[in-house]
Amino acid sequence: MRIGSGWDLHILLEGRPLMLGGIEVPSPKGEKAHSDGDVLLHAVIDALLGACALGDIGTHFPPTDIKWKDADSRELLKQTLKMVEDAGYQPVNIDCTIILQSPKLGPHKEKIRSQLARDLKLTADRVSVKAKTKEGVDAAGRGEAIEASAVVLLETMNV
Ligand code: MG
Repeated sequence: MRIGSGWDLHILLEGRPLMLGGIEVPSPKGEKAHSDGDVLLHAVIDALLGACALGDIGTHFPPTDIKWKDADSRELLKQTLKMVEDAGYQPVNIDCTIILQSPKLGPHKEKIRSQLARDLKLTADRVSVKAKTKEGVDAAGRGEAIEASAVVLLETMNV
């Protein structure tokens, strides 16, 4: 078995879509980014890569590369999962936390969770998506940024 952790932060800007796990959450502000800025998927990708010691998201999908401009992060996740499988591993379970002052993610969490489960080829009972605020302090607390973290466990692939 292997374990990996991932973390990401994006600045929030008025008029940008707020993408979380491939789901657009209604919000006046969304992530500033070269790609679609999906902070949750970026943390998940780093956790998967970390578990296999395959570098980080910037190694494989550099923001300087025009190819990843407005990229769909679900596509990046798909390619990452392929790298994990090529290394001989598959996810067992994943636990994620999103840190966002507003909007409240309660009404959207289940949708984000089932989408993430589908994309990771896992049943929903192996995928956890939690949400917290930052109690009004620092950049995320002031609504200037959003953060996400993820921990993933991998096992050797069934052959
Ligand atoms: Mg990112």
